[in-house]
Amino acid sequence: MNISKRHVTGWQLAMSYSVLAIITLCAPVMADAQQAVLNLYTARHYSTDEALYANFTKTTGIKLNRIEGGEDALFERIRAESANSPADVFITVDIGRLWQAEQVGIFAPVRSAVLEARIPPHFRDPAGGWFGYSARARMIVYDKSEVKPGDINDYEDLADARWQRKVCVRSSGHPYMLSLIASIMVHNGEANTETWAKSLVANLARPPKGGDTDQILGVAAGQCAVAVVNQYYFVRLMRSTKPEDRAAIAKLGVVWPNQKNRGTHMNISGGGMLKHAPHREAAVKFLEYLASDEAQSYFADGNNEWPTVASAKINNPALQSLGTFKQDTLAMAKIGAQQSSAQKVADRAGYR
Ligand code: FE
Repeated sequence: MNISKRHVTGWQLAMSYSVLAIITLCAPVMADAQQAVLNLYTARHYSTDEALYANFTKTTGIKLNRIEGGEDALFERIRAESANSPADVFITVDIGRLWQAEQVGIFAPVRSAVLEARIPPHFRDPAGGWFGYSARARMIVYDKSEVKPGDINDYEDLADARWQRKVCVRSSGHPYMLSLIASIMVHNGEANTETWAKSLVANLARPPKGGDTDQILGVAAGQCAVAVVNQYYFVRLMRSTKPEDRAAIAKLGVVWPNQKNRGTHMNISGGGMLKHAPHREAAVKFLEYLASDEAQSYFADGNNEWPTVASAKINNPALQSLGTFKQDTLAMAKIGAQQSSAQKVADRAGYR
């Protein structure tokens, strides 16, 4: 009995040592395997983003698997996959969508000294759920044959009776318009914003339809005199290889709204780490990488946007030709919080 017991004990001991040896040997390998992959779900799909991702793998050794899709489709996919989702990071556009994602709890808060130092506070979630990596401005474009510089200065002016049947905008249901309305609500109050929205509707040249590019082309075609659009759609047409696009742009002037008061309404493209992210360390590394000077340039130039990190360089002559302007520094989180109220204001104003 004693011998047998000793024998068993010795065997168990030997086993323990081998298991320990295997664990010890494997530990660094397993840790590497944990960090070696990052699964990204992104609503951005620009050719220049390729270099952005390749550079991440080159500098960190982390393989990047990317799934691209529409903003809403990816959001729904993450929700449906829930705890089984392989996604580590979700990138989308507009604070309206980031806010919605935050509200349903798909992001995991990230505390990062790098991100907090590099991204201005108004372009990120105070709780660390999402970070804004590029900025876009909602500007006014006008028909130079009909409108002179100084004729229209602020978003508030779009409600002026002088622009009756002269204004083109996309529908109120789109986050770009909801975010603009939300920002006006924060600055001017709900009642004033509703009055403004009613007058805006009265000034529409046609029922809201199409995207921002359609509004730009509508002004160029003489269907309206002024329109509200994100700057990158304008810059995209400036850089277009199609002569008709550049001919359209040549007819147009641009206004950075609200320069003598709060500044032009800004929005962001951004993302965050997901609650069920399987590769959390890699996810934080990727979020920090996106805030590096090099990544910022790729990230923003890919869609003719501005980096949110001040030290990042821009190399985009078309975008830079639009000049510098005063930006509204209203916190994105405050704009996000007003999304549903903004939709109600638009509905009451008859803005579809
Ligand atoms: Fe867009």
